[in-house]
Amino acid sequence: MTRIAPEQRALPILSSVSPRLRDPTPEGSMGLGKPLAQPVYVPPALETRPHSDEIAHWLQTLEATPFLELAGRADALRRQKHPEGVVSYIVDRNINYTNTCITDCKFCAFYRRPKDEEGYVLSYAEIGAKIDETRALGGVQILMQGGHNPYLSFDWYLGLLRYIKERHPIHVHGFSASEVELMTKVTKLPLNEVLRQLKEAGLDSIPGAGAEILVDAVRDFIAPKKIDSSRWLEIHEAAHEQGLHTTATMMYGVGEVWADRIEHLVRLRASQERSLRRGKGHYTAFIAWSFQPTHTEMQDWALPHGTGMDYLRTTALSRLVLDNFDNIQVSYVTQGPKMAQLALRMGANDFGSLMLEENVVSATGIDFIMPEAEIRRIIQDAGFAPQRRYQDYTPWSESDAGCPCCSWRGRAAA
Ligand code: SF4
Repeated sequence: MTRIAPEQRALPILSSVSPRLRDPTPEGSMGLGKPLAQPVYVPPALETRPHSDEIAHWLQTLEATPFLELAGRADALRRQKHPEGVVSYIVDRNINYTNTCITDCKFCAFYRRPKDEEGYVLSYAEIGAKIDETRALGGVQILMQGGHNPYLSFDWYLGLLRYIKERHPIHVHGFSASEVELMTKVTKLPLNEVLRQLKEAGLDSIPGAGAEILVDAVRDFIAPKKIDSSRWLEIHEAAHEQGLHTTATMMYGVGEVWADRIEHLVRLRASQERSLRRGKGHYTAFIAWSFQPTHTEMQDWALPHGTGMDYLRTTALSRLVLDNFDNIQVSYVTQGPKMAQLALRMGANDFGSLMLEENVVSATGIDFIMPEAEIRRIIQDAGFAPQRRYQDYTPWSESDAGCPCCSWRGRAAA
């Protein structure tokens, strides 16, 4: 078992700055010669959308329900699902193994194109050292994500997972749907086989990144090279079929309309229903945050970016629509601690992760990462009992012999 020294209780932030050799240009991180022109976004007509009746119902609910009533309904559902008055959080570290990417999402300030002098790939040893630091500070998970790096073979990923499990065991929450898709392209193997091999090598769960807005018209607008919405859902459901749990996310404020956000939510709800029926893996949580434009190629676009009320309304609506999701996380890293605290009364029941390291959001200049003592104070001040947890939401205790939800139970304490 990892003993945590009292002086480490406050859990300092190890690093929250991505490697950067040069300042972003006024046109964005990628240093384009001229700013990217803003395309015109035309939302799909309601009747052409999947689940159009449900979308119409929620649009009408949103329009007819005063904000505080919507919040009250979401809070009541949160109370029904979590009557014990606990708000959980996990201690983990984001490890971004590479920033090289060929997908050119217009909203991303993190990636570098192949051959860019700022491109990097972390070595196995560097990743192992980061895990050791994480465990020494009581961390129970790594969130491992990276760019779509065409130079990395599938064996590199499998070798990394085996290396982690053999030498630096910890829960690996890693490789979003679009990274998994790249692996299927590189290997030409079926999706299920790629997932099976990843799981066998040591992958424990899959993060919900890359969902952005699960409406193809929006995806074509902001990330035309990324997998489409149906494939994102298909990959998550295939992972569930392999017994892996996943999370789901939404990044809003990119020019979409409410019908797009609601379509995203009702499609997730339907996906969860299918996975729960199969009884293997499922979505453990939903997390929404607003687009952070600074240093991205969209930074000069005239978009109505998310406000505080918008975030709270989106959180409340998510809680209500996703009634088959157990957990709704706040995103204090993007919204700030005060908005996140309010969201705990709008349906959210989890403070996300302490994040000993974060590189992607901080690349936009936003950096709200806090030590553990502050997270606990904020949760308590909102009237809840803070509780550290594992990825599967089992409460953490200092006497635990490792992560209970991954196959490497016990070895994490080795
Ligand atoms: S969001 Fe991910 S896939 Fe898109 S450009 Fe950034 S690193 Fe690449």
